[in-house]
Amino acid sequence: MIRVGINGYGTIGKRVADAVRDQPDMDVVGVAKTRPNYEAEQARRRGYDLYAAIEDRAHQFADAGLETAGLVDELVAQSDVVVDATPSGIGAQNRELYEEYDTPAIYQGGEDADVADVSFNARSNFEESIGADHVRVVSCNTTGLSRLLAPLREAYGVEKARATLVRRGGDPSQSDRGPINDILPDPISIPSHHGPDVNTIFPDLDIDTLGLKVPATLMHMHAVNVTLGEDVDASEVRDLLAEESRIAVLDEDLGIESTGELKEYAMDMGRPRGDLWENQLWGESVTTEGRDFYCFQAIHQESDVVPENVDAIRAITDSADAAESVATTNDALGI
Ligand code: NAD
Repeated sequence: MIRVGINGYGTIGKRVADAVRDQPDMDVVGVAKTRPNYEAEQARRRGYDLYAAIEDRAHQFADAGLETAGLVDELVAQSDVVVDATPSGIGAQNRELYEEYDTPAIYQGGEDADVADVSFNARSNFEESIGADHVRVVSCNTTGLSRLLAPLREAYGVEKARATLVRRGGDPSQSDRGPINDILPDPISIPSHHGPDVNTIFPDLDIDTLGLKVPATLMHMHAVNVTLGEDVDASEVRDLLAEESRIAVLDEDLGIESTGELKEYAMDMGRPRGDLWENQLWGESVTTEGRDFYCFQAIHQESDVVPENVDAIRAITDSADAAESVATTNDALGI
């Protein structure tokens, strides 16, 4: 069994912890938190050992009636791999701690690419992370774009990719984020930083991205145009994408016309936390004009990177190849 520690138990960390617990070849050693809030209370209820991330504040857990198993250093020492799911920038600060205990670590997409030796997407470059010590799972948007571009590149070649990313203002629990009643070009400069992030997965890809932020919390939306290497029928591309286990091609008959309906669908399916781990791509939107391909896909920012973190654990420990890992992860989660 691979012993996994989770440092940072927020939106991503709690989902990764549950996904790791569901794997047949992994155990959760425990989770580290900075303070005893509702998420810490839930971590204990779910049976995870709690570790205090900040020594000076460790007493706050006891004051709140929450038992801890020690400090984050002990979690790192006992783990075969640590998944760092702390806020952007903290992961880079934590790297020294992981190095001190010689524990390989996985970072999230909010960190700069140079935090790790390699950026990871299971569908696109699993092999590059085999045996690496520091791996970064790319952001939710880059994960969604990489999953879409990988099969297009393999089947037809990609001359140029363009994507407009309509991004949610904040996650549902981020009550301090906006905009409340506005539409922001974000960043105003074009192209946005998302294209270069996709280049950490496909260095030779020609891609331009534009970003906006809107008053929504549920999901991101991508409007994508890719100039392929050859003329293709829309139905052929649609069939190709439907073969991908982490792209759900939405059938017209479902009548899903919004991210709100998608989230409702996820809850109706009994998905934990209403999570949608796959890209949600509208089948009707798949259009081709000569070599140009177009589509809309929605990305559940809180969860699409979760299966990727699980696969990155197998890559970093060299315990499965890409196909085996993805199949095991998908099976355990119900993808
Ligand atoms: P979050 O704020 O929901 O959770 C982070 C958790 O880490 C919080 O519980 C916080 O208290 C804790 N924390 C803060 N400092 C810490 C420290 N020093 N040690 C241990 N824990 C600490 O953040 P999140 O949304 O889960 O994001 C985590 C990472 O994942 C970021 O890099 C982010 O960019 C990336 N990411 C987020 C999303 C998303 O939409 N939420 C999607 C993909 C990737």
